[in-house]
Amino acid sequence: MRWGRTLAGRLFLWQVAVVLVVLFGVGVVLDRTLEQDFVNALTASLVSEARVIQRALPADPAALQPPVRELGQAGGVRVTVIRTDGVVLADSEHDPTTMENHLSRPEVQRALRSQVGTSSRVSATLGIAFRYVALPARDGVIVRVAVPLTSVDHRRATVRLAVAVGMLAAVGLTALGALLVSRGVLRPLRRATASLEQLGRGDLSARVEPAESPVEVAVLTATLNQVAERLAEELRSSAEEQRTRDVILSAMGDGVVLVDPDGRVRFSNPAARRHLGTPPDTVSGLTPFALQEGARQAILDHRAVEVEVETGTPVRSLHADAIPVDDEGSVLLVLRDVTESRRIDSIRRDFVTNASHELKTPAASIQAAAETIRTAVTEDPGVVPRFAEQIEREALRLSRIVGDLLDLSRLESGSELTELVHLDELAREELPRFDGLAESAGVEVSTELAATPPVRGSARDLSLLIRNLVDNAIRYTKPGGRVDVQARGEDGDVVLRVRDTGIGIPSRDLPRVFERFYRVDRARSRETGGTGLGLSIVKHVAENHGGTVSVESELGRGSTFEVRLPGDPSRLSSGR
Ligand code: ADP
Repeated sequence: MRWGRTLAGRLFLWQVAVVLVVLFGVGVVLDRTLEQDFVNALTASLVSEARVIQRALPADPAALQPPVRELGQAGGVRVTVIRTDGVVLADSEHDPTTMENHLSRPEVQRALRSQVGTSSRVSATLGIAFRYVALPARDGVIVRVAVPLTSVDHRRATVRLAVAVGMLAAVGLTALGALLVSRGVLRPLRRATASLEQLGRGDLSARVEPAESPVEVAVLTATLNQVAERLAEELRSSAEEQRTRDVILSAMGDGVVLVDPDGRVRFSNPAARRHLGTPPDTVSGLTPFALQEGARQAILDHRAVEVEVETGTPVRSLHADAIPVDDEGSVLLVLRDVTESRRIDSIRRDFVTNASHELKTPAASIQAAAETIRTAVTEDPGVVPRFAEQIEREALRLSRIVGDLLDLSRLESGSELTELVHLDELAREELPRFDGLAESAGVEVSTELAATPPVRGSARDLSLLIRNLVDNAIRYTKPGGRVDVQARGEDGDVVLRVRDTGIGIPSRDLPRVFERFYRVDRARSRETGGTGLGLSIVKHVAENHGGTVSVESELGRGSTFEVRLPGDPSRLSSGR
């Protein structure tokens, strides 16, 4: 951590600098003032001492040395007596005869001008610093008193030490103060920073611990918490919205692709990926080409454009609406898979064509027979019964076709599964109807009807199923052949098998025999009174009951139709 960059560091450095400058200034001033005071006090005491000594000196210059030495020792000062011409007459600490002329000394000069002379300097005689005081000359001599300045230096050193200690203590206290204050401020700030970092990393639950003091920090932490709360709220609701949008868009069956005005693909939902494979980055990567064109046109013209394209294997039909969604020219491509509805449309169209065709033939035949009868009644009445018979036959065929069509259209909207039906019983009821047909066809019908579990369904529709299968089996079996009707329970299912030793179905026709109006041999079907709708009815009934129908056949040897229906689970264990 660099001191100058943290708040605590800056606070500390500034305070220490200010304290040091102030204390240093105060110390210097104090030092000077005290020194001056000491020197002044020393000078004053030296003056009075000099006066006392001056009065005590004998008048005889030759007898000066002994009392000067004594007085000097008694006063703890150095005493020098100098003649007005500068010659030293006596000195308390030195032999005056060896001492140089003192006329040039500043204090002596002053004394000669009748002033009290003072001076501080290093003594040429003794080699240490002295404070000198010389009194104006009296009786031709000048008395000079001096003390070493060491005591002043001592005092000064003491003061300096005190100032230095004071400075150190002030620095210490300042540091402590800065530390305490900055801690009080910084700790909550650091915690706030940590919480904000946590928020920044996306943890929306992070909150700043509220501080109570200092007030500025308390206000800051409270405000930060409010901001965090608002932010979390906003993010939560925008995430919620995003999630809702995602759920809707990914559950949609329609593909959605959002294209920018500059042709960039900004968004695509899973359905779009199903329809188009991985969507391209730009509109120019869209295939088939018609989609690109549609999107571009919508961007340029600011109007909705519809296109229909075929794509993929197996081929699917896609209907695309390119809809401008804003003023800038963004376009939303909505893709709908219309393969199934197109297929159903085409089946319907084919059905109407086939049905009309099927109805047209007997109708034309009836019309022709009726016309023949009208003329024959007078011209050749003998043929009338034959044509009347033809009318009857074709009318019967018409009514069969219409009956089957009505059954089919009813079955298309489902069967009413309200009864519990035992297929074996139903077969037993239905089969006697075919005795006449079987006999005239020379076909032997046998049964193998075990007690089957009940099936939940419609007895009327299941009767239709049995009738159509048995009718076919007899009609497509040559005289001498056999038809066997079997009903049994198998693995919880109810299975009805109608087996014949008839003409069989070529394998290439097998997958198509359940289609409406599909016949292997149209002439034979018509001859035997078929409508081409029987197996289609069987398939609808089986599927309406949650079951299946399948066929196995060998040409010339016979066919087996198998219907498998789920047994009613609630009745499986109960008996009849
Ligand atoms: P149709 O009224 O012509 O019999 P279906 O829908 O019942 O119409 O049967 C469709 C076609 O399936 C028939 O025309 C016939 O060619 C063939 N088919 C149906 N059942 C049998 C069967 N048991 N044996 C041989 N061919 C059959």
